[in-house]
Amino acid sequence: MGGRDTTLVLLDENGIRCDGRKVDEPRRIMIKAGGLKNADGSAYIEFGDNKIIVGVFGPRDVHPKHMSNTDTGILRVRYHMEPFSVTERKNPAPSRREIEISKVIKEALEPAVMLDKFPRTAVDVFIEVLQADGGTRCAALSAASVALADAGIPMRDMVAACAAGKAADTIILDVNNEEDQAGQADMPIGYMPSLEKITLLQLDGVLTPAEYKKCVETGIHGCKIVYELQKKALTEKYFGNGEK
Ligand code: UDP
Repeated sequence: MGGRDTTLVLLDENGIRCDGRKVDEPRRIMIKAGGLKNADGSAYIEFGDNKIIVGVFGPRDVHPKHMSNTDTGILRVRYHMEPFSVTERKNPAPSRREIEISKVIKEALEPAVMLDKFPRTAVDVFIEVLQADGGTRCAALSAASVALADAGIPMRDMVAACAAGKAADTIILDVNNEEDQAGQADMPIGYMPSLEKITLLQLDGVLTPAEYKKCVETGIHGCKIVYELQKKALTEKYFGNGEK
């Protein structure tokens, strides 16, 4: 965890967090399926102050050809943060962090995507972070699942993602940027709710075994909230107001 800001009150005497939320309350989440006409599938997510757009292309031919697999399709993921997405301008060149996040998102999506249905081809997932405020990998992973579904890619389930963590000695749902910097732990989780399978679990910080268990349960609770909004986004696009 980053350096502590001693002036920041992460949890007040009434159990209210620095952004006004309760310990088990996620930030405001808005997911929209579609939006990019040149992509085969797309999605846009606002998760608190995070704003992320995802475009999916494919299944399509693999270039260079030697990267293709005759038995199965391949998934390629690029997570990219715009230089203006953070307070201190980010160098536009891919950072180690972006390479790591691209890899973990790809590995979190792979169990969901039926890659064996389209051998020799690739599905490309492009993630553009327009505004970042802590928890971009979870927001991006959730939006990528919707974009893949929007592209008609066969999937076993959607991956819904949300972080849990620890701040002021308390387990909290959906860690924001201040809590990430000044808190004690951050645990991003990706979860397939229908299959009850975790596909992403990272932990930055130190937890006792009991806190670890509570953090996983809290994160999964957040994923289930996200999952409902993912389904709602697809229902709204394909069935109008979602009531049809
Ligand atoms: N961040 C930043 N500059 C950077 C990279 C990250 O200000 O070059 C901020 C951004 O708000 C991001 C947060 O730090 O959401 C936490 O980053 P982390 O690596 O923990 O990934 P995330 O929580 O976004 O998945």
